[in-house]
Amino acid sequence: EAKREGRNKYRLFADELSLKAQARRSLELDLRHALAHDQLSVYYQPQVDPRSSTFEGAEALVRWFHPERGSIAPIDFIAIAEEAGLIAKLGEFVLREACREAANWPEATRIAVNLSPIQLRDRQLPNIVRAILNQTGLPAERLELEVTESALLHDDGVTYSNLHTLQACGIRIALDDFGTGYSSLSYLRRFPFSKIKIDRSFVSQVPHDADSMAIVETVITLAHRLGMTVTAEGVETHAQLHFAALKDCQQAQGYLVGKPMDAEELRLQFLEEKQLKVGT
Ligand code: C2E
Ligand code: MG
Ligand code: MG
Ligand code: MG
Repeated sequence: EAKREGRNKYRLFADELSLKAQARRSLELDLRHALAHDQLSVYYQPQVDPRSSTFEGAEALVRWFHPERGSIAPIDFIAIAEEAGLIAKLGEFVLREACREAANWPEATRIAVNLSPIQLRDRQLPNIVRAILNQTGLPAERLELEVTESALLHDDGVTYSNLHTLQACGIRIALDDFGTGYSSLSYLRRFPFSKIKIDRSFVSQVPHDADSMAIVETVITLAHRLGMTVTAEGVETHAQLHFAALKDCQQAQGYLVGKPMDAEELRLQFLEEKQLKVGT
């Protein structure tokens, strides 16, 4: 009797597992299809100088509008893309699309693109990036690549050499989600970062939590002392924007400034207006 019960329990568990595995497998197939049939798109989230409100550039964020499931968030498919061996293709798509779009923006602006740790471990990465810059005509100085600490953790040297090669081409490297990973300050010395992006989890606590405010302020100072610029991520309130400006943080990004939007919307809201301002 007990044996049978155990078996039934096992079967239930196995069924549940295979359901999960099936769902995942079907999402993977859909993603493969989406990549092959241009069903992914790139959204852009503006980055401004909090002191002057000047538009400085945008971060490219991939979007997937599934024909049946609707919009699927990157957290729900980036990991699948990584495990299924699709991230290189996805990453190239976003990079090409974003560079092509940003090539039409004003000269002083920049486009930031996220890189997966897997892309960073590919020895071909610098060649791929250079080829895309050539194809799209975007100057290297206007491209910023965002990496997270998790990409640096188990580096066997390829990531290190890729980042130095890319930096030597004039491309900027930003350290994303700073403070959430295994934050080792030695990364700031070892890798050629031009920018630190302070994670939203700290910024969102301003001005209610004194410790978070101290951390944000200290990271800004640290970045400046190391000759880097800083972006405050996830700015949602005027108090947060004012705090960033007050502490001389050069960039703010977040829903208060603008949510991620399609290229057309960004042009309408930030670029045409900017050109008007410059012209008048
Ligand atoms: P991330 O690079 O840190 O991007 C910022 C995320 O925070 C975006 O989520 C953005 O929509 C969200 N965000 C920005 N401002 C606010 C705010 O004020 N409040 C709140 N609540 N959220 C805000 P998204 O687009 O869902 O992307 C999530 C993550 O997925 C990204 O985090 C990045 O790690 C990854 N990701 C997105 N696109 C790509 C891509 O093309 N390639 C790779 N490898 N990863 C990507
Ligand atoms: Mg990012
Ligand atoms: Mg981030
Ligand atoms: Mg994040």
